[in-house]
Amino acid sequence: MDVKILEKSDRKIVMQIDDINPAFANSLRRIMLNEVPILAIEDVEFTDNNSGFYDEVLAHRLGLVPFTFSKLNLKSECKCGGKGCSNCEVQFTLTKKGPCLVKSGDIISSSLDVKPIDTEIPLVELLEGQAVKLQAMGHLGTGAEHAKWQAAVVGYRYFPIVKVTDKSDLGPAMKVCPNGVFGKKSDGSIGVVKAINCDLNMRCTEVSDGVSISHDDTKFIFTIESVSGLSAEDIFSQSLDILGEKAKEFVKAVKAEV
Ligand code: SF4
Repeated sequence: MDVKILEKSDRKIVMQIDDINPAFANSLRRIMLNEVPILAIEDVEFTDNNSGFYDEVLAHRLGLVPFTFSKLNLKSECKCGGKGCSNCEVQFTLTKKGPCLVKSGDIISSSLDVKPIDTEIPLVELLEGQAVKLQAMGHLGTGAEHAKWQAAVVGYRYFPIVKVTDKSDLGPAMKVCPNGVFGKKSDGSIGVVKAINCDLNMRCTEVSDGVSISHDDTKFIFTIESVSGLSAEDIFSQSLDILGEKAKEFVKAVKAEV
């Protein structure tokens, strides 16, 4: 197995993983989507809300705000697996009077580590005479329970194989390719310059017989984009730990039976 990082920032990682199969790639993807715990608001108690939104609608919007939660590390502190205990619960308050636009940055948490990752997310507009006052409780949860606890958007694609079989018929393919796969090479000739950009949409094969597109189903290009308070690297690394734990549990269960 070989792993190559193609692009990396705090919020996004693009990587190539070789020598795996579709089942393994999908296991990784599903764990990142559904099983890496993150923090979200769950219970909201309103003392005042005469805004244009019903309590339920505003509570739903609050639930979708992503928060940082560096000290709420499941492995080191929480003993309940993210179900809700003093180590994985945080209290929030929000008090605003109109006229104003209430934003995620107006949510005050009981923990210094817990802050909205973006303070400009609009929650509700308050007109003159309108007000919102509420208390809320957030805890760790997973995407398997609700999308608001989904840590990342994760996708993968097969590694593309792009071949030029007839250079004289490459012009139309170059014109329709939206990803810059074809271009001028360093020796001045026209050909494949960035095969990895190919997303296998097959548009070039519809206009040119001089191109052949296929894929290698043992190599995958993963894109992990965090939509939570965890970095993309944390999400990937936690998903590997979870997969490892599952494999250990499976081996234990099998050994107990045979
Ligand atoms: S399949 Fe699509 S992305 Fe790939 S080379 Fe052809 S046009 Fe470009």
